[in-house]
Amino acid sequence: MKYIYGPIKSRRLGLSLGLSLSLRKVCNFDCIYCQWGRTSSQVSERKEYVAAAEIIAELKSWLLEYPVEAKKLNFVTLSGFGEPTLNTCIGEVIESAREATGAKVAVITNSTLLGSPEVRKSILSADLIVPSLDAVDEEIFKKIDRPCSGVELDSILEGLVALRKEFNGQIWLEIMLLSGINDDIKHIEDLVKWVKLINPDKVQLNSPVRSTAESGVLPVDKKRLAEIRGMLGDKAEII
Ligand code: SF4
Repeated sequence: MKYIYGPIKSRRLGLSLGLSLSLRKVCNFDCIYCQWGRTSSQVSERKEYVAAAEIIAELKSWLLEYPVEAKKLNFVTLSGFGEPTLNTCIGEVIESAREATGAKVAVITNSTLLGSPEVRKSILSADLIVPSLDAVDEEIFKKIDRPCSGVELDSILEGLVALRKEFNGQIWLEIMLLSGINDDIKHIEDLVKWVKLINPDKVQLNSPVRSTAESGVLPVDKKRLAEIRGMLGDKAEII
């Protein structure tokens, strides 16, 4: 299988089958915590990196091969190697994956392209969108996510606010917290203000547990995570 991974059982999604919309890492970020290692060549161009038909053909052959698991699927999750919204066929994949499996469809995105009305429109038929937001401060944003040129923090923030107005499904905002980088009180206070404006259904706090692209990227300890969750209110949970 080239585009399918899993299924994975998780507390937040149940039984979820992953679909990658590219064969290799295609991303416009080079996050210091990325579990796939460094982004060797960052891309900002949206195009059909893989055709929807090719991904769905593989999905259909998986469904035939694993009929028992197929019946139990709760979600098909579009994520994989890099940023799925860079593939222009994402809307078609969402619709076809739901039709083929009968499961809900989740999109996990780094939020970089949400400033574009066209990109937001392409994912509106998903059931769940999990956008990430690691920083609301320009310097911290560049330090953590190392965006390629043309990716602007202001556009990400405005895109997240617009998504909430246009999307009727669930939005679970994911924040990756890194010790000594984005977990200080001032930054969290600013983050709280933006989270109120974005108004997601849930805020999911994460901290790296696997090996990261850069050495020395440290998770936030449990006590500090609990304090930050308290600052973010009832919708926040530690995952
Ligand atoms: S957005 Fe995701 S895939 Fe891209 S570099 Fe960051 S963690 Fe890795």
